Amino acid sequence: MEKTDILSLSLPEVEKLVTDIGEPKFRAKQIYGWITKGMWGENMRNIPKSLQEKLNNVCEFRLPNVKLKLVSRIDGTVKYLFELIDGECIESVFMKYEHGNTLCISSQVGCRMGCKFCASTLLGRVRDLTPSEMLGQIIAAEKDTGERISNVVMMGIGEPLDNYDNTVRFLRLVSSPDSLNIGLRHISVSTCGLVNGIERLQNENLPITLSISLHAYDNEVRSSIMPINNKYGIEELLSACHRYYESTGRRISFEYTLIAGKNDTEEGAIALAAVLKKYMHSGIHVNLIPLNEVKETKLSTSKNVNAFKNKLISLGINATVRRRLGSDINASCGQLRRQSQKESI
Ligand code: SAH
Repeated sequence: MEKTDILSLSLPEVEKLVTDIGEPKFRAKQIYGWITKGMWGENMRNIPKSLQEKLNNVCEFRLPNVKLKLVSRIDGTVKYLFELIDGECIESVFMKYEHGNTLCISSQVGCRMGCKFCASTLLGRVRDLTPSEMLGQIIAAEKDTGERISNVVMMGIGEPLDNYDNTVRFLRLVSSPDSLNIGLRHISVSTCGLVNGIERLQNENLPITLSISLHAYDNEVRSSIMPINNKYGIEELLSACHRYYESTGRRISFEYTLIAGKNDTEEGAIALAAVLKKYMHSGIHVNLIPLNEVKETKLSTSKNVNAFKNKLISLGINATVRRRLGSDINASCGQLRRQSQKESI
């Protein structure tokens, strides 16, 4: 019989598990307190040995294992290569911001979205992460750093909305006061633009921040760097974003990576402002990202970042440039996993 992955369960589900094996319900809260701190077995000090053994018979507890850890000498950013139970690897990045510690987590092993500038997708998708593997990245990073994580961004390896059910379950778990209690307003979910997923998410009553990886001001440019645009074009995507904003009241963050000669001209900024205003009207924030050059792709980073930002602002669009953290440790999307794959070939 397959054992239950206890970290994927909610407190009421652990209560059921505990009472099903003939134990009092109050034990569930104690066990839950331990597992969300990354403790199991004899580390659960107020759990009798007999119950620890019973639990081991019906369920399992696993945290991602730190396979490699890089610490930036510039800003203290920590990049983890985590190994999962089946030997697959994912990445998480711990960043210190004024508003609190942020962890960038992965949602899949690999990715099948095929964006031309992204290292995570080069070898496709291997599998989805379970809710427990998403939660486990946070617990393992808190345990390793000894610090509390107050913000989470789903901007690591994978497309969260391509792993919809596990992502939503993770969001409910991580924000639960019984679990890590990280407020949904402190969580960003980033998508390359799966319109069906955005439409479903709108009705989940989860006040997260939705980030859209837009990266282009028209369909020609977007389709040339993001294959998903052939399925859901910019008009359809931005209309879905508008409905999302109208229904949830949550401002949307548009990620825009500046690629030299591709999408970084002044006309590009004007066209971007126009298309955003046309479909969204308000509730827009543009986050400009200097491209992290990935060796395998031939795209180069733009020097026009500030000019692009200022143009957007002059056109009434709220825009910021993402601070580059951990630039000395390959801290962007999929680069470390890719490196470890190449070394093991
Ligand atoms: N699949 C999701 C989340 C993962 S990517 C998404 O597409 O949004 C997180 C962000 O990093 C996205 O905005 C993505 O476009 C961006 N990104 C990926 N590779 C990058 C690179 N080489 N340089 C800069 N940003 C990159």
